[in-house]
Amino acid sequence: VAEIYVGTKFRTVFVEKSPISDTNLAHRVRKLIEWARKMSALGLAPDGSGNVSARTADGFIVSKTAGNLGNLLPEDFVEVREADMEGLVLRVVGLFEPSSESLMHAGIYAARANVGAILHGHSEQILAAAPMLGIPVTAREQPYGTPKIVREALEILNLHNFFVLREHGFVALGTTIEAAGEELMRQLRRLSKVAV
Ligand SMILES: [Zn+2]
Repeated sequence: VAEIYVGTKFRTVFVEKSPISDTNLAHRVRKLIEWARKMSALGLAPDGSGNVSARTADGFIVSKTAGNLGNLLPEDFVEVREADMEGLVLRVVGLFEPSSESLMHAGIYAARANVGAILHGHSEQILAAAPMLGIPVTAREQPYGTPKIVREALEILNLHNFFVLREHGFVALGTTIEAAGEELMRQLRRLSKVAV
């Protein structure tokens, strides 16, 4: 059973409380919206849950907390400029608090320089099939949005571009948004072959 959403577990400091207007980011925002919709349509974002992000020159853009992956708008994206993983403070530009799972995104970008995008969703089917498909699964279940779940993820991250957070959800990575999306689709094709 999924943990009940209780909000972000870090403090958000707004460097600028305005929509991210950089035209360089507009293309990435459009791409993330596209893949978020696809995830929702495929049943990988129950009740709109999940979050998507892409690396930028100054940090990363991520969907807002409690955003609905099925109908994200450009202004629902927040740029995380700095993530203090110990003090649990995120410095952002945007109108909303970033995804409650932003610490995980920050941790992955910090650990893997070649990761440019992260798609995170929730799917009972993927969780159930992960062992059969040889998909790495974190060792222990941890509460969402906490440093503990970030540590669990980083422990198994290595060079994998797809892994499962135990009893929680999946994470797809890629050098680009398109590559992360393609990785997710590749895993779904593998899943369709073993699903009963
Ligand atoms: Zn999640």
